[in-house]
Amino acid sequence: MDEDENRYFSTYNRDLRPLHPYTNVTTGETNERFLELIRRGLISKSVVSSILQLLSDILPVPNNLPRIFNELLKSLQIDNHYTERIYCTGCFEIVDQQKRLLCVNENYVNYQKLKYDLLTVFDGDVKSLLSSVIKRNLSEIDYYSNQTSPIFDDDIIIGERYRKLKETHNNRPFISLIFHLDEFPLVKSTKFCLWTFSVSIVELRSSIRKRLKNIILLSADFGNGKLNVTIWLQHVVEELNKLKIPGISMESDNLNIYFFNVVYFALIGSFLAQ
Ligand SMILES: [Zn+2]
Repeated sequence: MDEDENRYFSTYNRDLRPLHPYTNVTTGETNERFLELIRRGLISKSVVSSILQLLSDILPVPNNLPRIFNELLKSLQIDNHYTERIYCTGCFEIVDQQKRLLCVNENYVNYQKLKYDLLTVFDGDVKSLLSSVIKRNLSEIDYYSNQTSPIFDDDIIIGERYRKLKETHNNRPFISLIFHLDEFPLVKSTKFCLWTFSVSIVELRSSIRKRLKNIILLSADFGNGKLNVTIWLQHVVEELNKLKIPGISMESDNLNIYFFNVVYFALIGSFLAQ
């Protein structure tokens, strides 16, 4: 169990209320078991909400079972940092998830048809994801970004470009980001693919920057068909642009206030050149 998991379990308060008046089973225990089942079965959010709705309807009233997926996460004190959108790859309109994923574009040849390719996009809450990684690494960022001579491997902050960046900021603190665009074919014989857009922080020394928990997944897109980068990344790029001007501010555990400007440092993307 790593540090983050330890922190989660030390602050998680299980809901000890009985699920309904005629049982000793607690609401918290039920919700935990339910979450484990849906994770094992890779069940979609909308199906989970329908199952919860059905169970709530047949349980004795009153009962404490959550009625939708987000309530379930909330009861288990899990922050859901991602929202899902599903596109028709024929017309790139968002499909109607309530109506069996039908194309809702009246001008498209596959309007209301089931058999077409879909693209599923998960967009992260950019500000909160970035803030949580920065907050967890505040002392490391503070220490590493103020070094002036090489101390670790792969020292970006000693380079000419980073020095100039520091000058233009007149030594005001900033966070600079390296974006990564990656493609992972999921099934060899088809075009089913996963594309990810993630970000790492220059102000962390290389060995810490490359740790999985410090690489922030901003958006993922998977499906069988053409990739439309503009549509995929539109939302996340808008969120990133909103951070450029106000920057990010946060309170550390010892109640110090930190403020960082946000700078885009580099974009690494192999598949875009193909
Ligand atoms: Zn369509």
